[in-house]
Amino acid sequence: MQAILPFETPNRLGPVRERLLAAFGPQRADARPDPVTQLIRGCLAVRSGDEATRVALARLRAAFPDWAALAEAPAEAVEPLIAGVADADRKARQLPLLMRTIMRQRGPIYLDFLGYLPVDRAMDWLTALPGVGPAIAAAVLNVSTLSRPALVVDGAVLRIAKRLGLVGRTATSVQAYETLMDMAPKRWIAADFFEVHALLRRLAHTRCSPAEPACGRCPLAGICRQVDVEGAQVVAWRKAG
Ligand code: SF4
Repeated sequence: MQAILPFETPNRLGPVRERLLAAFGPQRADARPDPVTQLIRGCLAVRSGDEATRVALARLRAAFPDWAALAEAPAEAVEPLIAGVADADRKARQLPLLMRTIMRQRGPIYLDFLGYLPVDRAMDWLTALPGVGPAIAAAVLNVSTLSRPALVVDGAVLRIAKRLGLVGRTATSVQAYETLMDMAPKRWIAADFFEVHALLRRLAHTRCSPAEPACGRCPLAGICRQVDVEGAQVVAWRKAG
């Protein structure tokens, strides 16, 4: 049965956030890294767990206290430091290239200028960097000390947005970012975007898993179209009961 969506308004993300807030409580950033560090963290985190990313970033920081030194590092020196993350060999080539690209375009490795650009232009600048997609770019803007209003649409958020019916089932991360940003209440500030992303990730880890979404225990069940989850949902309901 198709869910009746009570949020057929431009501000569709508002009701999603309210329901998740009631279930999981407020979410706030503990500490905000500088934008360059967040860029590196975002690249390391692609297809990698939080702990592996944290360890890899700490090792990189210890080896390269100045990110400019990372620009000159050979991939063979970087790869052992980040061996715990996915695609470490590719990322070991990507990270020095990223630093060199920033130096070529900006001089010092310093991204605070992004805080003075309109968010759309800052996103365009970041996504033109090698290997940087909209999720990494939005995290640089939103999670770092820049604290700009941009939604991080990572794999978990994209999956839930498709299941909810907020974006089409074939939407790319770029399309989903643009659609979801349009659905955010205009009054939202950076902390609101941070919070809704953190809430959606919490939902992804506790209810809306890729294989077996626990729709019977989901705070969004009443407003979710449950796109492409019919088979898995039967299992989830049986477990929940
Ligand atoms: S767990 Fe089920 S109801 Fe909740 S968001 Fe995922 S698909 Fe929708």
